[in-house]
Amino acid sequence: MTKLMIIYTGGTVGMIYDEKSRSLRPISFSEIRNHLPELYRLGYHFFVHAFRPPIDSSNMHPERWVELVEIIEQHYLYYDGFVILHGSDTMAFTASALSFMLENLNKPVVLTGSQLPIGQIRTDAKENIITALEIAASRINNHAAVPEVCIYFDFLLFRGNRTKKYNAEKFEAFYSMNYPPLAEAGISIKYHHPFILPPPTAPIRFHKKLNPHVSVLKIFPGITPQTVDAILNTPNSKAIVLETFGSGNAPTAPWFIRSLQRAIKKGKIILNITQCDGGSVELGRYETSEKLLEIGVVSGYDMTFEAAITKLMFLLGQELSPDEIKHLLQQPLRGELTLPDSNLHSAIHNYWATNPFS
Ligand code: ASP
Repeated sequence: MTKLMIIYTGGTVGMIYDEKSRSLRPISFSEIRNHLPELYRLGYHFFVHAFRPPIDSSNMHPERWVELVEIIEQHYLYYDGFVILHGSDTMAFTASALSFMLENLNKPVVLTGSQLPIGQIRTDAKENIITALEIAASRINNHAAVPEVCIYFDFLLFRGNRTKKYNAEKFEAFYSMNYPPLAEAGISIKYHHPFILPPPTAPIRFHKKLNPHVSVLKIFPGITPQTVDAILNTPNSKAIVLETFGSGNAPTAPWFIRSLQRAIKKGKIILNITQCDGGSVELGRYETSEKLLEIGVVSGYDMTFEAAITKLMFLLGQELSPDEIKHLLQQPLRGELTLPDSNLHSAIHNYWATNPFS
């Protein structure tokens, strides 16, 4: 019998509307179960671990990611797959963090949640939970169909570290603009095998050290030297995610470049990602990114903001030299970025050419 572990962290998926207080309040997993009698018809053996109390995912924190990794580690051998019920607001951060913390994963870890609470008639929670469980149970040629940390939402399965919450209203809350969905759920679940990571050849490693001392500099026309310096000089901050325009472009004003250069000389890592949801940083393509390349800003290629932040926390938490960190930032560790000269790059391009993003 397939054995699955459900980890219930909280989020809208486990809330009901309280007539008295007129607000959404979290319910326990046993109440969720009462709303989901279909669970028993799946024929799997379940073990449930619930956060007490369940949390709104706005309160998610790196310490809770470590807790999630510990729970998965304790139960890893006994279960075929893991489904994490999570608020949608920060689900992409948790999925990205877990992807780095679970190295050589050979079982599915599927995060899901919902836009409408499980108690509401039009809820999307039921379909999301049931299909996430089916995906977590699914095996192909004696291997997990998707040995990855992923997000299932509104009939699509995405690689977790490629995903973004982009809509707070639609059932389709997530997208993954730079990487094709790993699967689509219709009458059957169609897996896109070329885009799913192959099963690992080495044993799983559970990483539990994260360093949260990262900061973010999102540039905009008119940003002042005071703002830039305040962010670059944040005490204890070891690395800065620099959110640039388009394909990695930034002002060429000498004061701006000098500020970045000073931070780099002090040993800070500056990782360039684009403010666009789709596309990649290409340092040196325009004059407005040449200087960044020259002074040692690191390219984040097509990484999402969520992947960039959590990858930095992960790498800074390992015992690595700054050069090793800079090197690894520019390599795909868990499929979180695609290098422009890789075979995958053209496969992705062909996928979007025939399945335009709508
Ligand atoms: N605020 C909720 C959360 O992220 C929203 C949701 O679950 O969709 O926990």
